[in-house]
Amino acid sequence: MKFEQHGFKTGNIVLPGIEFPVYLPEDFYFRDDGVVDNIYQHNKKVRQELESDGFILSDDPPIGREDIPFGKTTFAHRRNGFFKRNIQVGALMFVKRQSPEQDRFCIGHESMHIVDWLIQCGFSLEKPFLEMMKGMGFSLNPFTRNYNEEESLAHVGGLISAYKAGQGDRWKNSEIYEDLMASRIQK
Ligand SMILES: [Zn+2]
Repeated sequence: MKFEQHGFKTGNIVLPGIEFPVYLPEDFYFRDDGVVDNIYQHNKKVRQELESDGFILSDDPPIGREDIPFGKTTFAHRRNGFFKRNIQVGALMFVKRQSPEQDRFCIGHESMHIVDWLIQCGFSLEKPFLEMMKGMGFSLNPFTRNYNEEESLAHVGGLISAYKAGQGDRWKNSEIYEDLMASRIQK
């Protein structure tokens, strides 16, 4: 109950940006705080809110700049925090407001980190994700060896998110973009 009281959801959720539906069983939670103006302040607020109620931040990556070494793109945004309470665990995400197009990309990027986290927790999400990509006309498999770096996988999430909003071409300077295009399914 505690997670629900703080706006976390379980059961059927949809990870934003990539619009990927996931079923979270008992003990797994997700909360999306969307786009925020100040990631430092928001992070502080979230930690105060949750830690004062007995939650423990189990993974606290450095806040602020997350440089993504693809093409010429660099983002400053906050990645996800994972909060624990007893055996329950919840992922909480928010991104720094930049421009609607960059925000869209970052939201997909962060959602993909959550997909990766859930896979590490034993969820079988690779197949449904590949099915979704196939439905979009792409046969690229981001879960293969070439993309086992977490940031590369997350970058694919950003591209998928941009594509779903018709903004895919904006990211054509990034290297995975070309791989994605090369994987286009001929009809
Ligand atoms: Zn990342």
